[in-house]
Amino acid sequence: MTTAAIAPDPVPERRGVFTAELLDRCISCGFCLPACPTYALTGVETSSPRGRINLMRALETGVLPDDDPTVQEESSFCLGCRACEPVCPAGVQYGELVEEWRDHLWNGRGRPWKVRPLLWAVDSPRRVRAMGIVRRHAGRGEAPGPVNLMLGCFERVLYPRVSRDARKLAGELAAPAAQGCCGALHAHNGELGRGRQLAQRLGEALPGTIVTTSGGCGAHLAGVLGGDRVKELSQWLHARDGAVVGNPTAARPRIGLQDSCHLRHGLGVWREPRELIARVGEYVELPSAAGCCGGAGSYAIVRPQDSARVLDRHLDEIAGADLDLVAVVNAGCYRQLQQGVKRRRLRTRVLHLAELLAGVK
Ligand code: SF4
Ligand code: SF4
Repeated sequence: MTTAAIAPDPVPERRGVFTAELLDRCISCGFCLPACPTYALTGVETSSPRGRINLMRALETGVLPDDDPTVQEESSFCLGCRACEPVCPAGVQYGELVEEWRDHLWNGRGRPWKVRPLLWAVDSPRRVRAMGIVRRHAGRGEAPGPVNLMLGCFERVLYPRVSRDARKLAGELAAPAAQGCCGALHAHNGELGRGRQLAQRLGEALPGTIVTTSGGCGAHLAGVLGGDRVKELSQWLHARDGAVVGNPTAARPRIGLQDSCHLRHGLGVWREPRELIARVGEYVELPSAAGCCGGAGSYAIVRPQDSARVLDRHLDEIAGADLDLVAVVNAGCYRQLQQGVKRRRLRTRVLHLAELLAGVK
């Protein structure tokens, strides 16, 4: 009797959209599902991290084409918040995967049209400088020092007091005005190469240590320049001064915090802002402080309805806790919470951590 040879299944060819080592890590255990805000909204597998990784794999092997509607929809519905990373036993770096996904799908004509003017505005250091010039941010015509404050692009326009207050808290920070955008917005919106290039340029404009007041920018910069060169403000202040507990008998405002997703999940910084807040008020931990507020960089502009649905739970908790203040550590969260609190007519005030600490210094 002869035995027919069984041919092994052919290994599907890869298109090279994703780094193989990153895409292959997922073991489909599903531990990430409860952490995902978009899965919480829909309960549908395809809008979970595991479901999206399966879509990426189908895209990589050509099972699904680039213009598949689900592939397109999910690449944009994902917040890019990285809440799926710390809970993953296989160490999936989902943030990098989603950047590669959008770099492939959103290059050229595939990019949401609402993002295009934003990317254009922050692409040139000259434009970024001009945008902030009338806003009296902390930037001056000074030379870089050993430790430099990053002024941000939209932050210097929307919230110029943040950099001024950061300098009040940390007088050792130089703030040269001649600095551009860090490139995080590009990297998260389908221009990965340009995003890295802008981070490199900023690293050259600000040699030495860079201190940032924005968690999203900090995580992107650290990813390109290395964690040794980049510190977020709460990290910097905490390492310098340690945690000082305030006077528990004085009348102290009730203060909550909205974590920055990338600061917490990307850089692992979450204790520091809490301990700094406890110096000046009664710190109140909101149940979803660690979850994305829906701001998510350009997400609130590209998908305003989903962004508002993600924010709702946070606003319910802020109202329920009857907070005096909510602190933020990222410009996008600042805008998102400020608008939400205003819409609901809550009495709670939203402040950046730098403003909060400088106000009582
Ligand atoms: S937790 Fe990690 S390994 Fe498990 S399904 Fe999610 S991404 Fe994949
Ligand atoms: S990045 Fe956030 S929204 Fe996207 S899959 Fe991970 S947890 Fe869900």
